[in-house]
Amino acid sequence: MKTNNLGYPRIGSNRELKRASELYWAGIITTDELLTVGKNIRAANWQLQAKTGIDLIPSNDFSFYDQVLDLSLTLGAIPKRYSEIAKTNSALDLYFAMARGSQKEEQDVVAMEMTKWFDTNYHYIVPEFTKNQKFELFSTKIIDEFVESKKIGITTKPVLISPVSYLLLGKEKEAGFHRIDLIEKVLPVYFEIFNELEKEGAEYIQLDEPFLALNLTDKERNAITFAYNEINKNFPSLKIILTNYFDCFGENLDTVLALPVDTLHLDLVSCSSQLNDILESGKLASNVNLSLGVVDGRNIWKNDFKKSLALIEKATNAIGKNRIFIAPSCSLIHSPCDLDLEINDDNLTPEIKQWLAFSKQKIEEIVLLQNFALDEVSLVDSVSFQQNTIANDNRKTSKLIHNDSVKNRVASITTGDYERQNTFATRRKSQIDALNLPLFPTTTIGSFPQTTEVRSWRAKFKKGELSQQQYDDLLQKETEETIRFQEETGIDVLVHGEFERNDMVEYFGEQLDGFTFTKNGWVQSYGSRCVKPPVIYGDVSRPNPMTVKWAEFAQSLTQKWVKGMLTGPVTILQWSFVRNDQSRSETCTQIALAIRDEVVDLEKAGIKIIQIDEPAIREGLPLRKEEWANYLDWAIKAFRISASGVKDDTQIHTHMCYSEFNDIIQNIADMDADVITIECSRSQMELLDVFADFKYPNEIGPGVYDIHSPRVPSRNEMVHLLEKAAAVVPADQLWVNPDCGLKTRHWDETKKALIEMVAAAKEMRVAV
Ligand code: GLN
Ligand code: ZN
Repeated sequence: MKTNNLGYPRIGSNRELKRASELYWAGIITTDELLTVGKNIRAANWQLQAKTGIDLIPSNDFSFYDQVLDLSLTLGAIPKRYSEIAKTNSALDLYFAMARGSQKEEQDVVAMEMTKWFDTNYHYIVPEFTKNQKFELFSTKIIDEFVESKKIGITTKPVLISPVSYLLLGKEKEAGFHRIDLIEKVLPVYFEIFNELEKEGAEYIQLDEPFLALNLTDKERNAITFAYNEINKNFPSLKIILTNYFDCFGENLDTVLALPVDTLHLDLVSCSSQLNDILESGKLASNVNLSLGVVDGRNIWKNDFKKSLALIEKATNAIGKNRIFIAPSCSLIHSPCDLDLEINDDNLTPEIKQWLAFSKQKIEEIVLLQNFALDEVSLVDSVSFQQNTIANDNRKTSKLIHNDSVKNRVASITTGDYERQNTFATRRKSQIDALNLPLFPTTTIGSFPQTTEVRSWRAKFKKGELSQQQYDDLLQKETEETIRFQEETGIDVLVHGEFERNDMVEYFGEQLDGFTFTKNGWVQSYGSRCVKPPVIYGDVSRPNPMTVKWAEFAQSLTQKWVKGMLTGPVTILQWSFVRNDQSRSETCTQIALAIRDEVVDLEKAGIKIIQIDEPAIREGLPLRKEEWANYLDWAIKAFRISASGVKDDTQIHTHMCYSEFNDIIQNIADMDADVITIECSRSQMELLDVFADFKYPNEIGPGVYDIHSPRVPSRNEMVHLLEKAAAVVPADQLWVNPDCGLKTRHWDETKKALIEMVAAAKEMRVAV
């Protein structure tokens, strides 16, 4: 029996890599200094895992930006627009130019596209392929890192994304081919890599095949069969660990079981039934090992040893201990580094802390599980086992977690709770009378610039350098100025600006019961950007109103409508570490009820327009299509629960950022928000077509300018976009707004852009 880790966080326990990369980009440290930081992190990670007792320690899991981009560089898949940069710069600068774009003297190239890594919050750089795509061994990173680990006395297991998954992660940049057709061209480079690694003494290779958790076409499945057979033919003695994670193999299982690999890794956290399916199929070849992913690689909960040992025992009884590896469910890059760095405070109490495990603790769990499974340590005598049992038992009954009134409230939800009083057509009439808005009403998505100054107030307040009163005064002043600016500009529906919020999820989490926060629980989101998701550990409830004070204050300053601003239940769920002791839908429903109470309180305080942001609805979609309907059912209901407590003439808005709506437009319509604002400008209103074709019945605000860029759009551009919109959606259904919140923008460009936006709306009113 072996222990097998799939990947260790590379950001460094104190985000050393983030700091060093940003200093390097700013020209403050040298290439050598940055490379040294990387080398030290790798060495520390390898040594820690070796010391803990991990047998198969990953290498090439380190990355200066992203492992998919690393592979593109390894395989020489470098888009043409970087060829000048490639000639005159180091490989490292070429790499960063591909990741982030580059603007130096005459060189001006945009970055490669970035997108979400399956259903995680990690983002990867999308490979670009052309019809005549060539591959060559361009970077030897994977080999170098293997050699580097050997030098410090550790023979690692190189990790790389398989050729099929790599191709599927990419995009065709011209017509006339499918990227999977490139498999025969890319395989030889993989062979070169395997050849070098074998020469250097590599025994195991981890090939990640995450697409096996998705619905594949026959062509894609055949490519997988082809690739592994070719690899096996050419490298019969290399031990390939076929690694899948995030969901079940589903209908791909038969294909998987026929592959000539050494070991099959299973994510038993996201799909525990997979083990039974495989053992009972009778199709597992007698020379194939199983790597059991029993320790959750993407959440922060302490493992439940009893549960894991039951799974391990089932497997060992069926195929013997020698054929079993113990592993995390997926790479630990989705977990924070080290729980030992968290200090107990009112937030993360000792009781809560004992329920948690970060990456360092997770690898310890893996080794302990191996010891227990091998009977090397007797369970009754083991302090670790006892502590684990106590912590898990405590979690089942803790008063901190379980709140009967919340559970009862969820249990007694009826259909009435997710229905507005009347249909949109009826509500609309009341809203037209109550709100008295012009045609093409103008608004913004919520946040206004979070300047360094605003952020410094928050930092000082948190450190105790500003009193609550002083902090509130500063925020009130900023809010008032923002209200005045919007009035002067002639915006119709105002916002308060969200200056009091650090983050759209954290702000609510801090005020809801059932949430806690870590000080150092950082996880890489992309490149040097890390996020620190809140932890939902218990039943969620709202002890007090969360936003009413600010909305009321802003409304008191003006005769115009001020829009209340909330984050929706699905987005709060999606951007947090969630409980694993109840379903996501249950947790989401609890959050929905808390938001519902806030919506009702806002209405009571005289707020007539309330926006409930749900930018994360789409990213919550499960990987396998057969699970979509169930998710959409509870997610849309959760939104409706949050929105349905108000009267007909209170107008509910929602907002979603850039996402494809074509396959979920019915569900978006089912949310039944009175107004939806969406990101649209980068697609030149193309995203709106889905709404037009569907004859989306409610009102829509397609974003007319890109807030991700400092560029100020001209009035004409925006009029042009609005004309395009009015050509497909009736004018009286349209709103005028930017693509998203303005918090990352500067004031000067924001002011100019909004003045032009209002002028564009006025032009449209005259034209109709
Ligand atoms: N109301 C939020 C803001 O304006 C919405 C952010 C988002 O959609 N991501 O910042
Ligand atoms: Zn947005």
